[in-house]
Amino acid sequence: MDYQNKKSKPKFIGNYELKQTLGEGAWGKVKLGIHKSTKQKVAIKTICKNKVRQQNMGIQIKREVNILKQMKDKNPHVVQLYEVLASKSKIYLVLELVTGGELFDKLVNEHRFSEAKAKYFFRQLVTSIAMVHDEGICHRDLKPENLLLDENNNLKISDFGLSALYLKEKDSCTSTSESCRIDLLHTTCGTPNYVSPEVLQDDGYDGRKADIWSMGVVLYVMVTGVLPFDEPSLPKLFDRIKRGIYRKPLNLSPNLLDLLSKILVPDPLKRISMKGIQNHPWMKVEKIPTPMTK
Ligand code: ADP
Ligand code: MG
Repeated sequence: MDYQNKKSKPKFIGNYELKQTLGEGAWGKVKLGIHKSTKQKVAIKTICKNKVRQQNMGIQIKREVNILKQMKDKNPHVVQLYEVLASKSKIYLVLELVTGGELFDKLVNEHRFSEAKAKYFFRQLVTSIAMVHDEGICHRDLKPENLLLDENNNLKISDFGLSALYLKEKDSCTSTSESCRIDLLHTTCGTPNYVSPEVLQDDGYDGRKADIWSMGVVLYVMVTGVLPFDEPSLPKLFDRIKRGIYRKPLNLSPNLLDLLSKILVPDPLKRISMKGIQNHPWMKVEKIPTPMTK
């Protein structure tokens, strides 16, 4: 009896009552939270301090918090951070609730998107990552699981856990390449299919160009439903990524094939820039996009 009472007792984090799990992250669960007086709904990302300590990732978490604070109210396509709470064993990031699920799930449900639909999401991704880069931040972990959708199918970028501030003057990633690499391999939970060749090659790199590569992989996955670089073993996968060998999809428009071939270029210096993507013919909207159904 006692046990049952205990079980049904509402759990509070600060002023928020914790409800059901919305998603699983590498550091803990993301749960729905409801403010006890205003009833505002939020997402609460739990980070287990122990896990963070074990994997020496404290700096990463601080970075995520600082970046979200820096982006606050500036970019409508970045999930907002409202506050940070902590208990003895956990850190809680109180985040804007995004209710439309992951782009990943939508893609799995629909298998693949039409070019028009992919363009609708990709244009939002380009606009918002361009804004993020203008703030001096690169994301470094762009993949459909980290792209959430709101109730109107607007893209919301989440999970800045691996983001780095790059030095605007030097145009390079501030963290040492070694730590970038280890962190990436760590937190992508196994198969880093979205990681650029230069990140794998482990020499100093421009994080913005690495984001552009990942955006190219996201675009490819959206229009084909399969990964451009996929191998059962990590060494083989890395080799394919470094050589930039991917199957040219059939049934895509010449403009889209051209754009993909300019993004998925292993040499970051020869890879298309964000401006180049924005001005590419495929990015033009031919018709007023009709509202997307979920
Ligand atoms: P991790 O850094 O461990 O990958 P994420 O920030 O990506 O954690 O969150 C894990 C999952 O939780 C996401 O893929 C998503 O399904 C869900 N989630 C995260 N943030 C939110 C949010 N603000 N609103 C709704 N769901 C979220
Ligand atoms: Mg994530």
